[in-house]
Amino acid sequence: MQCIGDIISMKPKQICPSCGSVELDTFYEIFNAPVHSVRLLESREEALNYLTGDIGLGFCNQCGFICNLNFDPGVHEYASGYESTQSYSPTFNSFAYRLAESLVREFNLYTKKVIEIGCGQGEFLELLCRLGGNEGLGFDPAYVPRKFEDVGAGKIEVIRDFYSEAYAHFKADFICCKMTLEHIDKTADFVRTVRRSIQHDDNVAVYFQVPDVLRILKDRAFWDIYYEHCSYFSPGSLSRLFRSCGFDVINLKRGYQDQYLMIEARPTDHVGQFDTALEESVPQLKHLVEDFAIGVLETQGWWRNKIKDLYSRDKKIVIWGGGSKGVAFLSTLDIENEIKFVVDINPKKKGTYMAGTGQMVVLPEYLTEYRPDVVIVMNSIYRADIEKDLNKMELNPEIMTVEHPQEKEIQ
Ligand SMILES: [Zn+2]
Repeated sequence: MQCIGDIISMKPKQICPSCGSVELDTFYEIFNAPVHSVRLLESREEALNYLTGDIGLGFCNQCGFICNLNFDPGVHEYASGYESTQSYSPTFNSFAYRLAESLVREFNLYTKKVIEIGCGQGEFLELLCRLGGNEGLGFDPAYVPRKFEDVGAGKIEVIRDFYSEAYAHFKADFICCKMTLEHIDKTADFVRTVRRSIQHDDNVAVYFQVPDVLRILKDRAFWDIYYEHCSYFSPGSLSRLFRSCGFDVINLKRGYQDQYLMIEARPTDHVGQFDTALEESVPQLKHLVEDFAIGVLETQGWWRNKIKDLYSRDKKIVIWGGGSKGVAFLSTLDIENEIKFVVDINPKKKGTYMAGTGQMVVLPEYLTEYRPDVVIVMNSIYRADIEKDLNKMELNPEIMTVEHPQEKEIQ
């Protein structure tokens, strides 16, 4: 799982899925990354032998889009044992609630029809429907049928499938797609499908939300680069994609401690206009990509040394966060024995194993027995929640966040 990032090399014949250009440079590679990071794996052996694939991030010199040039969508099964919900986190839930409230208000979503593409278990769709008395239609292959008790019978339907051209005849007043586009390799094809479904109805609005690759590049956040995410967007590359697919970008902002990009757009029959203030230029982005390619190796080296040093002094380390970030962090650094447990608040993950490196996932209460010396938090936005949990258990380990590990040095 070694990473080579210091060489910017040209890979001809690769075509940018966002703009069609062939001007792509590979700038970051990870070999043997687990192809899934949120499947529930029942044994350590299964986790250690889990299917892997290579990541080679390419940068498009035309539109600034970044994608995994080695991505093979055929390896993914989203249908079963796919556990990606974040709804056990109070911080996440309050963000989702405020977002739904603001979308309902801004787009006047009262007694309207709402589509959510990639709706998971439909939690957000349910919020949109409940807050505005709307009817909802969701699409997600990993959806497990359930009742939506808060909104009344028949108000929400979820189709257990990927959204595609086959569903473009479904009409809605609002189309929302959160944390899904980064899983899709044919980005322009997908956005055009959504655009075609709207046809000439200027009243329809769309909302998409994706991770912001600018933050990943600036923070050298290698834990945010994993196989399931084949597409990485900056404010500029996201806006350029929507404009080229027949949308006017009406709002573009960051949220969730600047981790997410949130774009609002309306259809236009022309090439979209209106640049937003947040957009960076392609040369600016290229500069960040080049800095990342060199700097990320330094960051990975720092973490390897830190973990090795703590382990050699018999310090017990746990990772807090058993999702994709935790899998990417451990598998990129190739950490198996130095860290034995990963904590997650999702009870469905209890007793499962981390893909690639095989740590067992435990619930927070296990820490009263294990008593770790160091907790590495995989997303600093949850730090306050985690500190509260640790205090309740009367535990006082050193806390490090992946984004700012050196704020407080471990002695
Ligand atoms: Zn491009």
